[in-house]
Amino acid sequence: MASNIDANDAADLALLEKLVDINSGTMHLAGVVAVKDILAPRLQNLGFRVRWVPMDKLTDRAGDLVAEHPCPDGEGHCGKRLLLIGHMDTVFEPSSPFQRYAMVPSSDGKIATGPGVADMKGGLVVMLAALRAMDAAGVLRNTAMRVVLSGDEERFGDPVDVARRDLVEAAKQSDVALEFEPSVRIDGHDSVSISRRSSTTWHIETTGISGHSSQIFGDRLGYGAIYELNRILDAFRRDLPEEGLTYNVGLILGGGAAQLDQDQTGGKATGKANVVAATALAVGDLRTLSNEQTQRVEAKMHTIAAEHLPRTGATITFGESYPAMATSPENERLFREWDQASEALVLGPVQLGGPMSRGAGDIAFVAPYVSGLVGVGILGEGYHAVGETAFLDSLPKQAKRNAVLMERLVRQPAKR
Ligand SMILES: [Zn+2]
Repeated sequence: MASNIDANDAADLALLEKLVDINSGTMHLAGVVAVKDILAPRLQNLGFRVRWVPMDKLTDRAGDLVAEHPCPDGEGHCGKRLLLIGHMDTVFEPSSPFQRYAMVPSSDGKIATGPGVADMKGGLVVMLAALRAMDAAGVLRNTAMRVVLSGDEERFGDPVDVARRDLVEAAKQSDVALEFEPSVRIDGHDSVSISRRSSTTWHIETTGISGHSSQIFGDRLGYGAIYELNRILDAFRRDLPEEGLTYNVGLILGGGAAQLDQDQTGGKATGKANVVAATALAVGDLRTLSNEQTQRVEAKMHTIAAEHLPRTGATITFGESYPAMATSPENERLFREWDQASEALVLGPVQLGGPMSRGAGDIAFVAPYVSGLVGVGILGEGYHAVGETAFLDSLPKQAKRNAVLMERLVRQPAKR
């Protein structure tokens, strides 16, 4: 399998370049479909039954590519049932200045940059390379495997239970999930993770009684909406900190009137220095290590929001949410198997990455059903930012680790 991957390195890099040069920003549905059209026949050629599940009419997103490789000898005769998770979209829409694949100058051809080159078109190529090597070695034939590639990982569609239905259904019929998101190098060592934090958006709207500023803090006008919003945010800063938790305020508006744009990335406010603010709002996020932590912190935030300054009001609402994937003994064992596969390939030990270094992800939706590894795709830096890079030498290394790990997993009995 390793020599198959080495022999195809140039072709794999060419595929990566081709995929990166197709803009597949989440909201650019035609671009996501174009990526799907390149991947689907490749999976078909490897013996997968491929389905395209369009989502444009359901969740306003492109859709999911679902591929199944059933066990030829019947259910339960192919060892652990594998679920391979990926996404075809990127955060870079057609409006971004960042559109093309290129080599990083002075990297000696070792580092590439481009929209989604690491997150996660590199991971898609790693996945296909591993599967091709398994196929060439006759290993893929006797596996029970599902691949689910979503078109909306970076900004998932609503309602979420529809947007993630294909993924969750596949997880219910699997034992182990591998998520082909990018990983980082820690002190020169390749890393992989077994946990991911949650991500939830929140929205606060405060109200006050408008009037002449000379009367602020008085009985009639009270403190106004902006001081109330400020009180809440400052209480968050002082009272909420705990291990593994972060929460960001990304946007605030306030004054006599304030309105957010529909996509919540901007808005309009009007106000005057001598008028007490009638309304204010803030948009932020919340990231936790576990779903228990999410619930507990959300309850605290509700309590803080409810302690109004005189003559003001506030409501906090929680919006779209990725659950957390907490670490578990099964995931720890899977990490050791990944590390052993790496050692067996003479690729050195692998570092266990913590959950703080990365965002939320699709694997959290399947964590209740399967054990899993996060970040078995390409290695790189600067995901989600213009200039994102991928370390090209990690592509064959990660493909080999995946192929060897999967070959070992399918020789172990299925869980149920
Ligand atoms: Zn990603």
